[in-house]
Amino acid sequence: MNAPLTKRELTTGAACVFDHPEFDAHEQILQGFDAATGLKTVIAVHSTRLGPALGGCRVWAYADDADALTDALRLSRGMTYKNALAGLDLGGGKAVIIADPRKDKTPELLAAFGRQVDRLGGTYITAEDVGVSDADMEIVAGVTPHVRGTRATGLGDPSPYTALGIFVGIKAALMHRFGSDSLEGRRVCVQGLGHVGMGVARLLHEAGATLIVADLHAPSVERAVAEFGATVVAPEAAHAQGADVFAPCALGAVLNDGTIPELGAPIVAGAANNQLAEARHDAALAARGILYAPDYAINAGGAISIALARPGGDDTAVRDKVIAIGQTLAHIFQRAEALKQPTQAVADAMAEERLAAA
Ligand code: NAD
Repeated sequence: MNAPLTKRELTTGAACVFDHPEFDAHEQILQGFDAATGLKTVIAVHSTRLGPALGGCRVWAYADDADALTDALRLSRGMTYKNALAGLDLGGGKAVIIADPRKDKTPELLAAFGRQVDRLGGTYITAEDVGVSDADMEIVAGVTPHVRGTRATGLGDPSPYTALGIFVGIKAALMHRFGSDSLEGRRVCVQGLGHVGMGVARLLHEAGATLIVADLHAPSVERAVAEFGATVVAPEAAHAQGADVFAPCALGAVLNDGTIPELGAPIVAGAANNQLAEARHDAALAARGILYAPDYAINAGGAISIALARPGGDDTAVRDKVIAIGQTLAHIFQRAEALKQPTQAVADAMAEERLAAA
């Protein structure tokens, strides 16, 4: 393993991206600049082995340009694994724009980004991510055809499909752990009641689960109490609640040295990206006998909806593929048990097998 580069080395170009600690055989990395608009973007194409590299565009006010490169490298690799495991004929890529989404995101900047995407000729297909709205992607789509998640190509907001995937994933975990996937009388703690978390809570409530909820945003919590009869706990205590399932649907790195010993549920299955603070925490969960649904396996519903949506709005094929997340997870759980391996390691191996066979 190469020694991590200093930020200065990365930003001055004193070292090459091939030495970057997050470099993982990425096929192409475009660093695009546009003087007229101030656009600074990094587009990382990790793999096109299964098809064009699909992954969203994130607009973020990175503290340092080097952080943007790190993010693009890491996120694009994650998209390769997510798309491969979801059975999509798509590779993995990701774009980041170094800008404050509230102040700097002008139509001109987005159009300049679209021109950079267009230069890649379809090797990379962009879509919404943090800091980018549907309306922003319409502007990008005016410049390049290599866009998904717009009105012309998509079903709109992907989060209902992400929520459906989390719901079927929770049922697969219950089946594996308890021999029944019924939610009747099960207690589930949902941390984060945003676009995805509120949808998950609704599906769970309708299926008969008892809900414990946490969010920093008081109106969301009040809504969950009024609509689902949920019990409210403090956000920082959510992971420790006595429940059948802990569903993290807010932040990443929620499974760490501090929280894992305190987890109050035998199953962790939720939407948040990058739930493991470090790769080794997968083994820490397994050592405690906690069944963990790997995040990129269970939260692929949104990516599936962006990838497969077609003009006309018929979402049958999308829903079928999202529901298949349950079978993928059942397979991961069975294999992890048989091989006595952590579930995340098994999911990685399954994605790598599909890539190797392509
Ligand atoms: P969102 O911004 O709509 O919702 C996040 C919610 O979490 C907000 O209500 C926020 O108040 C709450 N929150 C923030 N910090 C919290 C804390 N410490 N404790 C409790 N609540 C907290 O985001 P979203 O679209 O619902 O996505 C949720 C997670 O799922 C994110 O990690 C996201 O990356 C991941 N994800 C989302 C999708 C999707 O389709 N939207 C797809 C895949 C993964």
